[in-house]
Amino acid sequence: MLFEKVLIKNHTTFKIGGYVKYFAQPESIEDIIYIVKLAKDKDLKIIPITNGSDIIFPDYEINAIVIKLDKMKGIDIIDEDVVEIMAGEGLAKIAIYLENLGLSGFEYLYGIPGKIGGSVCKNAGAYGIEIKDLLLKAFVVSWDGELLELKNEELNLRYRESDLLKYGILYKAQFKLKKDNPDIIRKRRLEFSERRKRTQPYGVQTAGCMFKNPNNMSAGKLIESVGLKGYRVGDVIISEKHANFFINLGDGKAEDVLKLMEIARKRVYEEYGIMLEEEVVVIR
Ligand SMILES: Cc1cc2nc3c(=O)[nH]c(=O)nc-3n(C[C@H](O)[C@H](O)[C@H](O)COP(=O)(O)OP(=O)(O)OC[C@H]3O[C@@H](n4cnc5c(N)ncnc54)[C@H](O)[C@@H]3O)c2cc1C
Repeated sequence: MLFEKVLIKNHTTFKIGGYVKYFAQPESIEDIIYIVKLAKDKDLKIIPITNGSDIIFPDYEINAIVIKLDKMKGIDIIDEDVVEIMAGEGLAKIAIYLENLGLSGFEYLYGIPGKIGGSVCKNAGAYGIEIKDLLLKAFVVSWDGELLELKNEELNLRYRESDLLKYGILYKAQFKLKKDNPDIIRKRRLEFSERRKRTQPYGVQTAGCMFKNPNNMSAGKLIESVGLKGYRVGDVIISEKHANFFINLGDGKAEDVLKLMEIARKRVYEEYGIMLEEEVVVIR
């Protein structure tokens, strides 16, 4: 369950990042509590991840415990439209599971390659629905190893951010969904999925959108308009399909990503006076 000196790039969708001092994959709440207490004893920082699809680790070794909750599995129906989902369940699987039960909400998030832990933390959203609209409660192991139950409002969920990490590590979340016809839910899911494939790169090594959309403008369009589509630093390139996505062509480094981000930010600022803000989580 606890490993030493692990290459973290193998645990992210961007396939970028160097070694971490410790890496843990808990399978129970007790395991999480054990790791939290161990980190406290060793005075180490904990970085929780679930699918690593929205995070960039540095190229150098970091003195921390990365705790990956992808083995925390389970979906429980606790009322006719209320479900509890463990941190390690992926959004695509959840969407299909709930669709078959005639429960609507997750079909909007179907194409996001995240799992529940990171998706609550980042208030993931697409096509007009975000986690904030569905979440009732978050179940968390606090940084002191205590079990907390937090209401939606306490997490201060906002545009691709929340206060979750102030409290601790999410192991389970409760959601309220809407009853609907499974065929209608499926139709919506397939439409969103099709739209995503048309507009975003897929089947590539990426961490999704690098920057937030400023004041309802598209960060991708801004980066495109300053001529940076296809611009490359090392083995990292700005997608030709959607300029807010950077792609690791194979041997990309965090340093290359950060340089590219700086170039995009500088060029957009010079042209429009708009300072792009990071959407992706950068561990520094
Ligand atoms: C191709 C592609 C398309 C994407 N499209 C979208 C999109 O349309 N909309 C969107 O919102 N996002 C999108 N993303 C970004 C990303 O997939 C989402 O933010 C996703 O919800 C993150 O989930 P994750 O499990 O990968 O999180 P991770 O990357 O593992 O973690 C993200 C953050 O959450 C924290 N965290 C993770 N697990 C826990 C936990 N158990 N407890 C507390 N904190 C935790 C991490 O420390 C980190 O700060 C896309 C990414 C890719 C690669």
